[in-house]
Order: sequence, then structure tokens, then C-alpha cells
Amino acid sequence: MSRVAIVGGGWAGIAAAVALADAGHDITVFEMAPQLGGRARSVAGEPPYDNGQHILIGAYRDSLALMARLGVDASRVLKRLPLALPYPGEPGLRLPPGSPLIAFTRGVLAHRGWPWSARLGLLMAAGGWLARGFRCDASLSVADLCAGLPAAVKRDLVEPLCVAALNTPAPQANAQVFLRVLKDALFSGPGSADLLLPRRALSELLAGPATVWLGERLRLATRVQRIEPGWRVDGEAFDAVVLACTSVEAARLTAELAPAWSATAGALGFEPIITVYLSSPGSALASPMLALREGPDAPAQFVFDHGALGGAPGRFAFVVSGAAAWVERGGCAEAVLAQARREIDWATPPVIDKVLTEKRATFACTPGLQRATGRIAPGLWAAGDYIAGPYPATLEGAVRAGLAAAQGVGADAGAGTGAKGAASGSPTNTP
Ligand SMILES: Cc1cc2nc3c(=O)[nH]c(=O)nc-3n(C[C@H](O)[C@H](O)[C@H](O)COP(=O)(O)OP(=O)(O)OC[C@H]3O[C@@H](n4cnc5c(N)ncnc54)[C@H](O)[C@@H]3O)c2cc1C
Repeated sequence: MSRVAIVGGGWAGIAAAVALADAGHDITVFEMAPQLGGRARSVAGEPPYDNGQHILIGAYRDSLALMARLGVDASRVLKRLPLALPYPGEPGLRLPPGSPLIAFTRGVLAHRGWPWSARLGLLMAAGGWLARGFRCDASLSVADLCAGLPAAVKRDLVEPLCVAALNTPAPQANAQVFLRVLKDALFSGPGSADLLLPRRALSELLAGPATVWLGERLRLATRVQRIEPGWRVDGEAFDAVVLACTSVEAARLTAELAPAWSATAGALGFEPIITVYLSSPGSALASPMLALREGPDAPAQFVFDHGALGGAPGRFAFVVSGAAAWVERGGCAEAVLAQARREIDWATPPVIDKVLTEKRATFACTPGLQRATGRIAPGLWAAGDYIAGPYPATLEGAVRAGLAAAQGVGADAGAGTGAKGAASGSPTNTP
């Protein structure tokens, strides 16, 4: 058994902590905030608000397994719906149940809002992606990849999916990562494309149960200031450390220990997400989630009906992903309100309830992006949604990075290259 420090208690840190504890290590989790959950947490309100609307999909295998490990019944906290992208007054694309490939083909063919040429154009493009193993040149943007697709398909499917999954607008988004998301969501096992919408406050999905599970092993409101080789966390000795904090903090903590790794982690750009909560007592959407058409005066790409999801009745979360331009321009909430009034029928006039702006919601997932690796040095690992991997910044990417770091710590311990290895040699600088 070794003593392992986990710095950061978001979904990556929780995943690493649980895996390490299950493997018999003596863990301590340091979290600078007064609660666990990181970006995926609830914030004060009655009932609580989510720190930004989150959705999971059926392909989030490791996140769902982690929730189950902590005793969370996914069917109680998440509403599972077959993938559908309805717009106000339009049924949009709907995937019927069944084998993913057949469901996708049937769903596209049945999309009455698109002309036949658009439906066939999408199926031919998807067939090409499938034939090429969902791989493409690393320098391509999503807009490049989809340049030949019919305009309606780009507008109603590619652009909203891209900004929802990668939080980066299609002209600047990494096509390789987009294809990998499509592959896992649309073309892996049955149910992988299903939408899993939180029916409870976000912290109930993982952070709350993890807080109880960790108990005394958790140190909240404790910001780690310094890591020294050997390993020492603010002077306290550990055999290994998992940096599960944000990329910015991981870069700061490793600036002297591993400058090359630190530079890669510190070089990431970010994209904001703005969540505008509107209140309209007595109103309900036609579906718990609707896609919206983004435009110069229409910031939101999606809206969620929290009443329909089992949360606060009359509360609606409008999501503005890839929101850099709106952060700079200002006036996003008022523009969302005007968009909502134009596009949706309300029982009572909606009003702005709460606005949450996460300026560093996710890293900007651009073509040719360099991402830091999980291994920093023997006994020093990093975990987080920004770590190199097939996924964009998502809950599942964070959980997988946490599990990989836990495995790495275990392998180091087995090979005798934890604290002792690091103490006898210098930490590696190359990722
Ligand atoms: C508004 C919004 C909407 C999103 N929507 C979705 C979605 O629909 N689906 C999806 O899959 N993903 C979504 N995401 C992304 C998802 O929230 C993140 O990918 C995920 O939460 C990242 O987890 P993490 O553990 O890597 O990092 P974080 O959640 O950032 O956790 C890092 C933790 O480290 C702590 N910390 C930092 N420095 C220190 C230090 N020095 N000492 C101690 N603790 C420290 C922080 O306080 C934080 O708790 C969304 C994100 C936002 C912001």
C-alpha cells in the first residue's frame, strides 16, 4: 500500500481517488473549493442550479460505472432518451431504438424536414467516415470535414452537435476528435447515442456521494501550493501524486518540476459556456430538450426544461456554447431572452432568473492541438479532461483520465518507480 495524494476533486480526481482506494492505496484528496465536483457541480439556489447544464450520453461507460460504484442509481438521477434533436415546432432528427448503424440510417431517412438529397448526402458522408475508420487528417476542422454536406445537415446536425460536444464552433473545431465522438456515440453499442439528462441537481450525480464515500480522506477548502520531488505536497510526504486540478493549476505546480510538461499544459486555450436560466411559471417545452438555431442575435443552441426533467418547474436552461464572442460583446442574457420569446410559446412571459458564465469551461478543441500526457514523472501523474485522449473536454474524458492516472500510479508502485524512483533520479521533463 502506498500513500497517494490527489490534488483536485472534480470528476477526474474522484475517479482517480476511488480507483486508487479500491486498489488498496491510502489516499488523500485535496480540493480547494468548499465542495467536490469541480465544473460539474451544483450552485446555490432553491432548488440548486447546475453550474451549467450538463448532458451525458449512453457511451459514457466509465462515468456510469463510477456512479454505480458510489451507489448512485443512474435510472433515478438521469433521464434516458433516444437521441433526438427536435427544434421548436419541428420534430428534427430522431434515432429509433436498435442497432446503431440501422437506427442512424432509419432516423436520417425518416427526417421529413430535410430534402431527399440532404438525407442521402449525409448517409453517403457517414458511410465514407465509417469506411475510413472515423479517422482524418489532424489539420482538418469540422467545417473542412463537412464542407461537402448539404447546408441543412450542417445547420441542423453538424454545427449543433459540434458545439455541444467540443464546445468549439465548427470552423475552429478539431475534426479528428469530432469523428471519434460520432463513432462512439452513433456507431458503438446499442444505447450509446442515448441522451442522459440529469433529473436531479448535478452534485447528486457524483460529487455528493463521493463526499460521503471519501469521508476523512477528503480535505476540502485546501488549495495545494507546492509539490516537491520525493513527493511532498505542501511539505507532507506521499509516495505518489495525481494532479487532478485544472490545466492552469497543474502547469503552475509543475513549472519547476517538469517544465516541458508544464508548458504543454499551460499552452491550452479555452472556450467559455454561458448558461442563461429563464423562469416562466406554468410553461413547458414540447420536449425536455430542444435544439435552437444559433445566429447573430440568437446565442443559444439548446434549451432544457428542468420541470420536465423532475427539477424546478418553470425553470429553463439555455446553453450558449463556444461563447467567446458573446463574452466579449456582452448582452448575452438579454439576447437569449429575446430569442426565447421569438422561438417558443410561453404560458407566462419568461424572465431572466440566473446567468452563469464559465470563461474557462473547456479547452478550445482546435485542429492539431497538443495535449499533455497523463504521465509527468515516476510517481507524478496528471488527470483531467484536458489530458491527451480521444475525447474533447467532457465528464467521460475526465473520468477516463482519472482511471488511467490511477493505473499509472499502480504500475509505478509495482515497478518500484514511485517516490523512491523520483527521489533517486530527476523527474522527466518530456511528456
Ligand atoms: C458550463 C459547462 C457545461 C458543460 N457541459 C458538459 C456536458 O454537457 N457534458 C460533458 O460531458 N461535459 C460538460 N462540461 C465539461 C465537464 O464539466 C468537464 O469536462 C469536467 O467536469 C472536468 O472535470 P475535471 O475533473 O477534469 O476538472 P474540474 O472539474 O475543473 O476539477 C478540477 C478541480 O481541481 C480543483 N483545484 C484546482 N487547483 C487546485 C489546487 N491547487 N489544490 C486543490 N484543488 C485544486 C478545482 O477546484 C476543481 O474542483 C461542461 C463544462 C461546463 C463548465
